[in-house]
Amino acid sequence: MSIKDKILIIEDEKSISHFISTILSVNNFDTITAKSGAEAYTMITSHCPDLIVLDLGLPDMDGLKIIEFVREWSQLPIIVVSARTLERDKVEALELGADDYITKPFGTNELIARIKTALRHARARNSNESVANTGIFKAGDLVIDYNKRQIYINGENVHLTQNEYKIVSLLGKCAGKVLTYDYILKELWGPATKGNNQILRVNMANIRRKIEKNPAEPKYIFTEVGVGYRMVESSEFEQENESK
Ligand code: CA
Repeated sequence: MSIKDKILIIEDEKSISHFISTILSVNNFDTITAKSGAEAYTMITSHCPDLIVLDLGLPDMDGLKIIEFVREWSQLPIIVVSARTLERDKVEALELGADDYITKPFGTNELIARIKTALRHARARNSNESVANTGIFKAGDLVIDYNKRQIYINGENVHLTQNEYKIVSLLGKCAGKVLTYDYILKELWGPATKGNNQILRVNMANIRRKIEKNPAEPKYIFTEVGVGYRMVESSEFEQENESK
């Protein structure tokens, strides 16, 4: 398709807004900008952007409010670009539904790569629905068979424990998205396990030993340090292999 993706940049600092806008244009995106939360609301509802690049420190409100606002009715991808570097801030933004989080200062290539990933992920959501229909998730040599509750690498059954299977299957259902530790714990074992990341670390070490060729350099499940885990997307995997 030749129609360009439209990116809304919500950023009050003129120089940064201009910088992001320029690099996006060079990379073949259309851009629109908002310099306050109020302006952002108008742009979001009247200009139908394909993705939002969001600064959290806005003059009239906390950018987190914008994530909440959008997530009430839409899965529109949101990438936070913020000077806030604490893990707590990242976790909060991701839990409210941001797709990704980049800290300032950031590299041009990094921003473009994250935007492309988020857009691809948004498009892959339909194919995630196909996972829901067929019961099969596939990325590279990894297959999750949700009907049989089994996981295969290269066609060979990987014998996971029940807890290991639960973690991998949850990540597979949300492939491409970082799931926070607390979210995973709450989904799988209820709110009482909140903060007990040790369970996840132990299970993840075992999972990686079973599914990854080199557990130290995982290809299927990535760690976002201090935040959570992310399963590779099917399309991401194919692209990587194509480019070899
Ligand atoms: Ca700001």
